[in-house]
Amino acid sequence: MANGKRDYYEVLGVNRNASETEIKKAYRKLALQYHPDKNPGDKQAEEKFKEASEAYAVLSDPQKRAQYDQFGHAGMGGGGFSEGFGGFGGSPFEDIFGDIFGDIFGGGGARRGRGRRGDDLRYNLTISFEEAAFGVETKIQVPRSQECGACRGSGARAGTQPETCGTCRGAGQVRYQQGFFSLTRPCPDCNGEGRVVRDPCPECRGSGRVREQRTLSVRIPAGVETGSRLKLSAEGEAGSHGGPPGDLYVVITVKEHAIFQREGRDVICEVPVSFVQAALGYELEVPTLEGKVKLKIPAGTQSGKILRLSGKGIPSLQGYGRGDQLVVVRVETPTRLTPRQRELLEEFARESGEEVHPLGKGFFDKVKELFG
Ligand SMILES: [Zn+2]
Ligand SMILES: [Zn+2]
Repeated sequence: MANGKRDYYEVLGVNRNASETEIKKAYRKLALQYHPDKNPGDKQAEEKFKEASEAYAVLSDPQKRAQYDQFGHAGMGGGGFSEGFGGFGGSPFEDIFGDIFGDIFGGGGARRGRGRRGDDLRYNLTISFEEAAFGVETKIQVPRSQECGACRGSGARAGTQPETCGTCRGAGQVRYQQGFFSLTRPCPDCNGEGRVVRDPCPECRGSGRVREQRTLSVRIPAGVETGSRLKLSAEGEAGSHGGPPGDLYVVITVKEHAIFQREGRDVICEVPVSFVQAALGYELEVPTLEGKVKLKIPAGTQSGKILRLSGKGIPSLQGYGRGDQLVVVRVETPTRLTPRQRELLEEFARESGEEVHPLGKGFFDKVKELFG
């Protein structure tokens, strides 16, 4: 299945930096053209429809799209982190239909059958720089709706049952004709649920759901960054009347660090050294994510020089390899000189002439070339 697949961008006919809106638009156009309801029995249209839907499932999800951009179709095969994000098929498909066809086909997949699928929830989680680097297991409190215990989600007062809706005879959908198409939409009398509650449950006022605070344990994998999204399947809002629950998405924000910055998998850290240390060479103690390490600043180091601590960066989200730490040397000029220090520096200047300042010499030579 992985071989011979067309590029997803090519399938949707958009370029690689297309916006979400452009992608949605392109998919919508293709889906309307090739939708099986419009092309009954046409195998080729069905294939095209499937291909476009698959491309859309990936490119409409920022996380999957990033993974696809990096690894191509090979990156979509599950394993590692992509599984944590729900992989492929199943429920994301439902979402697309609810989203794209909701207004055209009246509800689409999300409302098929009796119960309605619960809504997806989003939880914003802020974690520290170190937690993002190494992963963390944390507990989150999620307010969400839960099946009502008193009526077991039926919405009918204990001891009574919901009745089958007379309008749709329990199907939850009614068919109607529009032009060439026979379309279905949710039954207006039972809101697509196929049944009506005559004597509502007092606990949930007939909704079949109650609010509650749930504590969930979440494992954040090493290497996440701000904007990373984790999907916890079936931890969203409860479905109604036996429908499946929605999903919970945990969206990560990583706090800024006092001394470290992040650039992809590399950690950047500026370290001040005195101009004497830079000139003579020095062994520095440099902070890393896992404590201090010794780092030799070679004699004659210029300000802005970057020294690399290999493998001291952020582990990759894919589970293999790790970035580096980049130490940026900042040479400090002393500001308050004692008379004796001033004297020594003046002597130093007389002693050195131009030859110990290669950068300065090169620069002033160029100025001379320019202005004579
Ligand atoms: Zn109830
Ligand atoms: Zn009905």
